Amino acid sequence: GCLVKCSSVPCATPKNDTKDTSITINLDHGDPTMYESYWRKMGNKCDITFNGDDSLSYFANGKSLCWFLESKLEEQIKRLHNVVGNAIVDKYYIVVGTGSSQLMQAALYALSPTDQLEPISVVSATPFYSSYPEVTDFLKSGLHKWAGDARTFEKNRPYIEFITSPNNPDGVIREPVVNGNQGKLIYDLAYYWPQYTAITSPANHDVMLFTISKCTGHAGSRIGWTLVKDKEVARKMTKFMEISTIGVSKEAQLRAAKILEVVSDSCLDPKMENFFEYSQSLMTDRWQRLRQVVMANDFFVLQKYPLQYCLFTKDFCESHPAFAWLICKGGEEEDCQKLLKEHKIHTRSGRRFGSDLRNVRISILSRDEDFNIFLKKLMAIRGPTNEN
Ligand code: PMP
Repeated sequence: GCLVKCSSVPCATPKNDTKDTSITINLDHGDPTMYESYWRKMGNKCDITFNGDDSLSYFANGKSLCWFLESKLEEQIKRLHNVVGNAIVDKYYIVVGTGSSQLMQAALYALSPTDQLEPISVVSATPFYSSYPEVTDFLKSGLHKWAGDARTFEKNRPYIEFITSPNNPDGVIREPVVNGNQGKLIYDLAYYWPQYTAITSPANHDVMLFTISKCTGHAGSRIGWTLVKDKEVARKMTKFMEISTIGVSKEAQLRAAKILEVVSDSCLDPKMENFFEYSQSLMTDRWQRLRQVVMANDFFVLQKYPLQYCLFTKDFCESHPAFAWLICKGGEEEDCQKLLKEHKIHTRSGRRFGSDLRNVRISILSRDEDFNIFLKKLMAIRGPTNEN
């Protein structure tokens, strides 16, 4: 029978279970395909065309310090931040990258001192985004090295701290943890958009990373940007980009500019469906259904979030993070990722985020079909109707 009496929750009946449980659902990556439905509705609004003689040059025509940044993209990034109110853009330099992943590396390069014998320590509070240790140590650079949890870092030394807010994997709003006097801070604000969390004030930190991937769902375009206060840091980041890829694809930048333009238009034009209202209501619905399933099952717990006033929606909002941070109630040695994998749900173990085996991160950004099958499978685990 059905564990939860709610029409919007798919019921795990033995009949339709046999088909669905044979499929493996991959919710390991945060692949943001859930926004496809919005973009399909936008029809040809985002179409752009390129002629054979367009975009041949390495250089962009703009006057930006970041010499490969298309001025249309610069303009639309600034416009969107102003429309949403999530970051200050005046007096900031913008550096564009192939995803914010490349900019993480550029920022590490730019903030690492070059006159030290020892590589600088890079830290983030657990649970931290699993790419930070990988990116920091991948090339075994003499400039920086991963030093783990920011909470246990000895503060009287130089360091770089990643502050991810809202945090990946657990969706929590964060502030710096080390608070030493020799720290350089990188704010990763990939999820500081209204569909995920309340916009409580425009962010104005020294180095802020954003990405179109989690904002609009266009992860495949590989466009990210950094808002940088200090000219020298912006120059060094641009240099990193120059050495690694001599800039960023013009086609990707111009498409991203178009997408951001349509998002801003959708917020300002009452005749259009507001992108953030649409995506926020999708996220709210998914989280409500997930919480119902988890509540009906006494084996799992979810992170709780406070209500906060959002300056963008002008209302009190709860967070609806891109990932669910699920905790198995069993003992310390309970391997939640393994358990879910046995039920054909692929997730990322808490271990990868410097946390423990009892936790897993589950992407909420999949397509509807996959999310529904995921709920169905989750309902079947250690539920009253299923004794495994
Ligand atoms: N930062 C955070 C916190 C992320 O979750 C992600 C994507 N998973 C990224 C950066 C990188 O995104 P992209 O390279 O697609 O811009």
